[in-house]
Amino acid sequence: MIELSLYPHQADLRDRTREALAKHRRVILTAPPGVGKTRIAKWILGASANREPGPDQSGLSLFTVHRRPLVDNASDSFGEEPRLRHGVIMSNRKPAYGARVQVASIDTLNSWFLDGGQYDTSLTFDLIVWDECHSNHSKFARFLEKHDAYRKETGKHPAFVIGLSATPEAKGLSDIYRKIVLGPPTQWLIDNGFLSPFRYFRATQGQLGLLVKRGDTFTPDSEAAAMAGLSGALVRDWKRLAEGRPTVGFFPRRQHAQEARLELEEAGLRVAYVDGDTDDDSRKRVFWELNNGRLDYLCNVQVVERGTDIPAIACVQLCVAIGSVSRCRQMIGRGSRFDPVKYPQKTDCIVLDHGGNIKRHGFFEDDPLWSLDRSKGSGGEVATRPTIECPHCQAIYRGGKCRQCGYEPTKKERKGQGLEFDGTELIEVKERRKGSRTAKSAEDLMLSALYSAGRSGRTWKQAVGMFFGLAKKQGSPEYRIPARVTVGGHTYRMLPFGHNMSGRRVDMLFPFTVERGAHGGDFLE
Ligand SMILES: [Zn+2]
Repeated sequence: MIELSLYPHQADLRDRTREALAKHRRVILTAPPGVGKTRIAKWILGASANREPGPDQSGLSLFTVHRRPLVDNASDSFGEEPRLRHGVIMSNRKPAYGARVQVASIDTLNSWFLDGGQYDTSLTFDLIVWDECHSNHSKFARFLEKHDAYRKETGKHPAFVIGLSATPEAKGLSDIYRKIVLGPPTQWLIDNGFLSPFRYFRATQGQLGLLVKRGDTFTPDSEAAAMAGLSGALVRDWKRLAEGRPTVGFFPRRQHAQEARLELEEAGLRVAYVDGDTDDDSRKRVFWELNNGRLDYLCNVQVVERGTDIPAIACVQLCVAIGSVSRCRQMIGRGSRFDPVKYPQKTDCIVLDHGGNIKRHGFFEDDPLWSLDRSKGSGGEVATRPTIECPHCQAIYRGGKCRQCGYEPTKKERKGQGLEFDGTELIEVKERRKGSRTAKSAEDLMLSALYSAGRSGRTWKQAVGMFFGLAKKQGSPEYRIPARVTVGGHTYRMLPFGHNMSGRRVDMLFPFTVERGAHGGDFLE
């Protein structure tokens, strides 16, 4: 067994995935980027590699991805301590077929193992993890069909399959998968410091009236027409709201992205451009540069939205009108990674929306109701809750004072947007409805406060302040600090009022808040 520790919410997701796998055989693990899907998969693959194979098994597992550079990413993360021994199946690499875990791209698998429509090798897998399973679904389906048919011929059980995706929506997913296992709510992940907070701005709008829908997405031509002529405003809006933030900009057409690049360069920014034809090495270098402060801005067309890991990104500029909630979430999700230790300068990510996308698809915090029933091709619906646009600074937010400038819109201004404010949240004037979220217990709120305080270097006293803030915010001002909290099966005493360690940092008192599985300290029972 590799000693890979996971946060309690990751361990919970792992356990639920394994249970679902045992019951349904083919499942999708869904969570936003930054939750650690690869890490959870690493744990499960490691456990599988430690089991003695049965008579109907090959003893091998596979992690497969949709592009060659992602093979390296996966191999790197499996190579981190604790190391998961694995082989890489790729041209110009020395294979290690003896390793119980293999990593390969789906194109390599299809070209090496499928010959004339038959599976032509004795290498098959008991467990397959397929990364970004919403993308290139048909390639994987083709592989799996032949692979499992060959296993049947040779007396082995069909493979167990885990698809990983932040947006489990693609035509045909329900032909393979039987169940979606959902990670923790995005808002919870943000509140607890695992994902970046977001702020949203309605930037200068394109001519959105030109958008034409076909099925659930806009036609590429209308997308391009709707956003034409925006380049001047995108520079101005970025300077006003996002200057100094490592930024990724999304554009409908290569021509738009290239024009934007010129404009941004004229404004003095260090800019790079990538599209689908950029070679893997250049792409990798550009991502590194943006991540390490050598670039200010990356213009791209349909590249960065797929499984790219650039944790420093602190601004996502949507110079595109996006037709589907999945693509919108993939794009915004590039800014969701949050690592205050490695990137202390990133405290949040802002979204500059030139295409009315937030109004159409909701905030990143609004989790869609993913369901395999919809994967026959229609779009996943987000029940978009009302938002208000600050009359002063164009921030888009939900209720109360503007999170950006502190302005509180008047009743008249809210009504002007068809909205009213009920004390906690905005509601549409036509549909009067009290927020019905269930209240969290004092223990839940205490844990949230501990994680936030621990991960931002704050003290116990500050965590107490955060706890009371959270309690007040959810309408439970009567809450008191609980005597104990339980996390991942471990119980901790909370500090009594006036304790002599109250000025100490939470990460010292409760190390589990900053390090996976680091249970211990003076307050562990
Ligand atoms: Zn404002």
